[in-house]
Amino acid sequence: MSFKTMEHKQTINFGAGPAKLPASVLYQAQKELLHYSDTGISVLEMSHRSSDFNQILNKTTSLLRELLNIPDNYKVLMLQGGGCGQFSAVPLNLIGLKADRCADYLVTGTWSAKAAKEAEKYGKVNIVHPKLDSYTKIPDPSSWTLNPLASYLYYCCNETVHGVEYNFIPEANGAVLVCDMSSNFLSQPVDVSKFGLIFAGAQKNVGCAGVTVVIVREDLLGHSMKECPVVLDYKQQADMNSLYNTPPCFSIYIMGLVLEWIKNNGGSAAMETLNKQKSAMIYDIINASNGFYVCPVEEGCRSRMNVNFRIGKKEGDEALEKKFLEGASKRGMISLKGHRSVGGMRASLYNAVTLEEVEALATYMKEFLKEQQ
Ligand SMILES: *Cc1c(COP(=O)(O)O)cnc(C)c1O
Repeated sequence: MSFKTMEHKQTINFGAGPAKLPASVLYQAQKELLHYSDTGISVLEMSHRSSDFNQILNKTTSLLRELLNIPDNYKVLMLQGGGCGQFSAVPLNLIGLKADRCADYLVTGTWSAKAAKEAEKYGKVNIVHPKLDSYTKIPDPSSWTLNPLASYLYYCCNETVHGVEYNFIPEANGAVLVCDMSSNFLSQPVDVSKFGLIFAGAQKNVGCAGVTVVIVREDLLGHSMKECPVVLDYKQQADMNSLYNTPPCFSIYIMGLVLEWIKNNGGSAAMETLNKQKSAMIYDIINASNGFYVCPVEEGCRSRMNVNFRIGKKEGDEALEKKFLEGASKRGMISLKGHRSVGGMRASLYNAVTLEEVEALATYMKEFLKEQQ
């Protein structure tokens, strides 16, 4: 059976997360659902302490180490609680690294704003730049004031809601750099050694909901506040190979399949090439549309993963946007509506979204523009 016949209808999923998975991953999961390998049982039924599950966990972890070139002095954890769980776990584990119990935050969108707010429960939070009046840019590093006493500098390298992505790694001036990579994880190569900690929920670019990857440098373990819940304590989880309690077994298995798919398709460098191509296709149409399509985000920090745009005018023409979505839906394109807090359109072009699927959107955007003129 081919992947095409497996897909009972031609739906193109531009959802922001949970998001599209590679068809071959779903097919493999379906094939193995009842009996995994020669175990006679499903991964869903397997003890998390069994040697079979251990193999799945170890395979997933080593694929991740390989794909991201993770140095030996970093631990890889597979935790529950999502990206939002890490908004608490990061300060609970790291804000006490220095006596002043404070942390620097870059707030460039909904997700980093939430993280900063959560961190305020556990220590002092310093937003290092003048507050942004809209989440459409990255404040210039020359305007940042880092606190030399801060335990870490936190940022979100791809703001999923507004479509703002850093194209550089912030200079932390010796402080521990912490990054939320939930929505562009493995979309490009990354130099892990520049970071103290990276975390990412799997459901955007590397799997399904349930598992959150934490990559943490070993010297940062063991500094948690005494109030830190055990399940969020990096050292306790690292000591137990993420098996302090039952991990999200099936989500870890699915992530393993996605990582294998990434590897077989050329790794993070190949993903980057494709992601550049895909996003440029849509941004080029926006730029050449004489203001019919408007991307509110500044050119230098437009996300390759989440392309936000309005239709008709800067604030968006509601009737036109509704019409656009209806036409998209007729063509089988779903989840193009922007986040409820932003409005307009958002096309999420994660790794699993193919060039052909983005071409279909591009064609539709050009046709829609022509029709309206
Ligand atoms: C989706 C998302 C989150 C939140 O993830 P949950 O799993 O819902 O907690 C955090 N950060 C970023 C960048 C995201 O895209």
